[in-house]
Amino acid sequence: MPEAGNVPGAGSATVGGGAGRRGHAVVLGASVAGLLAARVLAEHVGQVTVIDRDDVTPTAAASHRGGAAQGRHLHALMERGRQILDELYPDFTAKIAADGVPTAETLVGTRWYFDGARVTPVPTGLTSVLASRPALEAALRAATLGHDRIRLLPGLRAVGLVRGSGSTRAAGVVGVRVEPPAGDAPARTIEADLVVDATGRGSRASEWLADLGFDIPREETVGVDLAYASRTYRRRPTDLGGDLGVIISTLPGRRGGGAVAQEGDRWIVTLAGMLGDHPPVDAPGYERFAASLPAPDIHRLIQDAEPLDDPVRYRFRASRRLRYDLLRTPAAGFVAIGDALCTLNPLYAQGMTVAAQQALELRACLRSGGLDDLAARYFTAAARPTSRAWSIATDSDLRYREVEGRRGPRTRITNAYIPRVQAATRSDPVLARNLLRVVNLVEPPSVLLTPAAVLRTARHALTRRGQS
Ligand SMILES: Cc1cc2nc3c(=O)[nH]c(=O)nc-3n(C[C@H](O)[C@H](O)[C@H](O)COP(=O)(O)OP(=O)(O)OC[C@H]3O[C@@H](n4cnc5c(N)ncnc54)[C@H](O)[C@@H]3O)c2cc1C
Repeated sequence: MPEAGNVPGAGSATVGGGAGRRGHAVVLGASVAGLLAARVLAEHVGQVTVIDRDDVTPTAAASHRGGAAQGRHLHALMERGRQILDELYPDFTAKIAADGVPTAETLVGTRWYFDGARVTPVPTGLTSVLASRPALEAALRAATLGHDRIRLLPGLRAVGLVRGSGSTRAAGVVGVRVEPPAGDAPARTIEADLVVDATGRGSRASEWLADLGFDIPREETVGVDLAYASRTYRRRPTDLGGDLGVIISTLPGRRGGGAVAQEGDRWIVTLAGMLGDHPPVDAPGYERFAASLPAPDIHRLIQDAEPLDDPVRYRFRASRRLRYDLLRTPAAGFVAIGDALCTLNPLYAQGMTVAAQQALELRACLRSGGLDDLAARYFTAAARPTSRAWSIATDSDLRYREVEGRRGPRTRITNAYIPRVQAATRSDPVLARNLLRVVNLVEPPSVLLTPAAVLRTARHALTRRGQS
């Protein structure tokens, strides 16, 4: 195992009881994707070092921080993500609920609207964990960083990679250059057998790889010019008739929003606007935007509730995917996970779940072949869940004619058919359940394309036409 280098505070390079396990992995970024990567790596390597530019020590607890500015906005954890967290951290849901995070049967305890019509409230077998993003991250941090083969180096910024000399793997990535965020000390090297980029959507890995002469991935983007504006309110048990949330879909218009109960008797209310139709952050403008949504629930809620802060904005310009999976020879010793690999339009709430799915793929690759040839095997495997989520998000965005991108036959058929399924969910409990299960990434979209599903959808469309 290479030395961890002489980073201040790094301590011994042989921390932990890695008996029988060899190798040192460095994970860049201690947010959701980085923590999940560290968790699966700890099963296979002697030591995992996680670095982050922010103070992410477990005692820093559930607070907002600069490196995860999106944490001020509604973060829904899809069911598939929740299932994976329960697999990697036994009883994760039960423990976070015991700590005061509300949970709900997705369609019974919360309201969903498509095109202004409420989805029929039926049991879906899905559980919504209604944690704020900082609370979710803090729970993951506590669960991950307790592992004796994982050590955290907070307050360190990655500024480049290190290339080995020689042939095969030795010529790959063999370390990372780090410095304090203020840049007030010289950069140092942490050597590693594997470097994992989990630095999120601002990742500079392509630049770092190019500097060292490695091939860099092609970038795919779909511009959506989305903005969120979010505010928290005090929650009373009688608010929203006792329901724990309401989601008003943006499609087919440009405006949508969500209000979700959170730990600490709060509502997080996020308003969203696509294609430049952005929600204002002054209080009167914020309320007017809420009043313009296709369903009145959020506006009614915030008219009554006591605000706890001012609205804050987050602007999201484009979904972006780096195609490491298409490289003929990806740099050995380097992989990327989470938003550093694929940043998805947050309206579809897939990011954390896709990061969890990628972590499972990383674990499967480590189990089948260890660190040998890991980069190529992992990027191919991770492309499977990533492509599924990318298609769901970008196909939906391509329903807007202003969104630029290729509309192949699959996109056109999906975008003609899915709005009809959405319309049918207002009265059809089977379609409602199945659509929510697809959205939550526990069922493939094909469950909406079975002959029975197509028939139900057509029957609903005919009934409506007969009524109009
Ligand atoms: C407004 C918004 C709303 C969202 N809503 C949802 C939702 O409802 N559901 C959902 O599943 N997903 C949602 N997402 C996506 C979700 O936040 C991410 O997909 C998820 O957090 C995984 O991100 P990550 O861990 O890859 O990166 P991030 O969460 O961005 O974390 C990157 C980490 O790397 C650190 N870092 C960055 N650069 C460096 C460096 N050079 N050196 C050291 N450390 C560094 C940062 O401090 C940070 O800790 C949303 C995103 C946005 C923007």
